[in-house]
Amino acid sequence: MKSRIVLLGPPGAGKGTQAEILEKELGFTKLSTGDMLREEIRNKTELGEKAKIYVESGNLVPDEIVIEMIKKRIRDISGAILFDGYPRTVKQADALAHITDIDLAINIDVKDEVLINRIAKRLMCPKCGAVYHLVNKPPRKDWVCDKCSTNLYQRDDDREETVVNRLKVYRQNTLPLINYYSERNKLVVIDGNKGTIHNIFERIRVALEN
Ligand code: AMP
Repeated sequence: MKSRIVLLGPPGAGKGTQAEILEKELGFTKLSTGDMLREEIRNKTELGEKAKIYVESGNLVPDEIVIEMIKKRIRDISGAILFDGYPRTVKQADALAHITDIDLAINIDVKDEVLINRIAKRLMCPKCGAVYHLVNKPPRKDWVCDKCSTNLYQRDDDREETVVNRLKVYRQNTLPLINYYSERNKLVVIDGNKGTIHNIFERIRVALEN
């Protein structure tokens, strides 16, 4: 089984949802730079204050900041790691290659129409980072996290204007990573348009076992 995995894909592709299942079912530790940054912003740390303007506008936080965050977190983890939302630029991918060997990059490919619908109906837990969807994956109790009972919220950067910018930023900065990992024979593409959340997870599981 592969043990250092990168999840690629545009915002709303289902990276966070699949990362949660991979953690629960296969014992990965999820490292989500988005979750880390939101926590820093909520706690009003120095790093959070620096990152806020980028996150709120849907732009990328400078590479040096996220690379440093990942370096710090990775030190304490010995088992399998799943990177969710990192790397987002070639510079971040190069930095990651110096920190650890990546076994596989999984690109969850989803069309724009589907992404926009998913993001518009996405809810999130501010405490544990669990992701819900009002229709496809509703919480058992309205607006309350199944896992930790915290009230759910809609991310500020899930507003339509910001989403349009996030998709543009994704195409400019992150899409080149598909070639990056493909050239290194580490890329698998999963069609995230069709099938249930569970079907998509099963396809990811097969890719990890091969
Ligand atoms: P996410 O939760 O992965 O959608 O990330 C939310 C926001 O956090 C992004 O729109 C960026 O502003 C910022 N962010 C998350 N990960 C990174 C990263 N690897 N590099 C730069 N900015 C990031």
